[in-house]
Parts: sequence; C-alpha cells; structure tokens
Amino acid sequence: MADVRAHLAEHLKFFEELGVDGFRPDWRQAAVVPASLAPLERPADPVVASSNHPAENPESALVAIREDIGDCTRCKLCKLGRRQIVFGVGNPHADLMFVGEAPGRDEDIQGIPFVGRAGQKLTQIIEAIGLKREDVYIANVIKCRPPENRNPEPDEVATCEQFLFRQVDVIKPKVIVALGTFAARSLLKTDDPISRLRGRAYDYRGAQLIPTFHPAY
Ligand code: URA
Repeated sequence: MADVRAHLAEHLKFFEELGVDGFRPDWRQAAVVPASLAPLERPADPVVASSNHPAENPESALVAIREDIGDCTRCKLCKLGRRQIVFGVGNPHADLMFVGEAPGRDEDIQGIPFVGRAGQKLTQIIEAIGLKREDVYIANVIKCRPPENRNPEPDEVATCEQFLFRQVDVIKPKVIVALGTFAARSLLKTDDPISRLRGRAYDYRGAQLIPTFHPAY
C-alpha cells in the first residue's frame, strides 16, 4: 500500500511538472470539486442485495453482480453482434481503478477489458507507475461492444452504467481514472470536453476521480 501511494504521488508530481492544473500536495484531504459539478454521493449501502449470494466480500459481491448481468438482453447491443459480456478484471480490493468506454473487437473476443492495442498502452502506463494489471481493477462504462466501435448510445449507457456503479461500490477504490472523453463525461454527467475535465480530481462515489486521455489517443 505504501508503495502504491508513493508511486501515485510520483505520478501526480510528474503531471504537476508537466503543468497540469489541479494537483495539490494535500489532494487526498481536499475535496476538489469544481463548482460546476455537484458532488456525486455514494449510496449509504452498496447495491449488492438483489442477488441470492451473500456479498460478504468484494470477490463474492463481484460474482453476484456478474450473475445479475447474466446473458444480458437489457439493451439492443445484445442483438448487434456482441460476442460476450466484458465484465471487468483485476484486484477486487484495488485502490486504483481504470474505467474505459466500451469493449472493442479484441475485448469482445477475449471477454477481458483493454487487451487490444489501447490495452497494451494501458498496461505500459500501469507498469510505468510500478504496478501490474493484477494490482488494479479495469472495467468499462458499458459491458458490450457497440457495432463498428461506435460510441455507446444514451439508452445503452442508462441501462448498463448501474453495473459499473455497483462494481465501484464493492471495490471501493481510492482513485478512479476515467479513460477518455466518453468515460469521463458519462461518470461525471457533464458535456464538458476532456481538455477541461482533465488535470483535476473530482469526488466520486467515495473515490477521487481523475479524467485523462484514452490510451488509444
Ligand atoms: N477501449 C475501451 O474504452 N475499453 C476497452 O476495453 C478497450 C478499448
């Protein structure tokens, strides 16, 4: 844990040196919420009770969420060529969570988020801060590949985002990195461009949310 903190601190310092605004030495204590964005509150109780499985730990809570998703037909993506649901991967106790947009072709084939070209870049980024993929948790806002990798549509996000929220609530990361415009905008419920959103930390479901560019970019 001390290692993770030291690496994160070093990483944040690096961004500060690059001139990215918004990082402060006391960022852990500070609730850095721009006035334009109301704080998003974590529900009092994690929403894990709708399954038959007792959710006594994050591992079993994640299994319960995955089972609730089932062979999902809640939105039209189930009929638009998705091969499988891409739930999420990594450490259920992670302090650091990465959230992308939606599975692409390789992720749809393998059932694991961020395994294609963008995923290789993300793995390099994770390793560059002294961590391994197994140390963090990686998921997407929506769990099925949109056809031709188009942007997810509002009804698809509205149907699917509850599962990401539940993942966040059981993992309880300290830091969530939103990868790219789409993930950042979806999580923060804003239309602001990523250029305005990045470089700041936002209070989000008990974590600090840090928007940044998508690794494909
Ligand atoms: N891009 C994403 O946003 N998510 C993935 O899982 C892969 C590529």
